[in-house]
Amino acid sequence: MSEYQFLCGWGKLKNRRAVERIARKHGAQYILYTEPQCSCGYGCPSGECENSTRHWFAAENMGTTFDDSRAFAVETDLRAAGIIE
Ligand SMILES: [Zn+2]
Repeated sequence: MSEYQFLCGWGKLKNRRAVERIARKHGAQYILYTEPQCSCGYGCPSGECENSTRHWFAAENMGTTFDDSRAFAVETDLRAAGIIE
């Protein structure tokens, strides 16, 4: 099984519980990843710098058409919830 990743970005989305609920609703998972070091060049401790955290959504790869509409549905809900602009 391959994995489809979408809506990747730096930092964390606000309101993690709402984000996870939206992801689950669409059969996806909200992933937060913290790099051991930030990439801003100031050597901030891990987790303290926006540039050390990345997020994305992951779901089972079901083919482009399905994947695209799932990504669109998640994005639409995030926007409706005021989590992204
Ligand atoms: Zn930093």
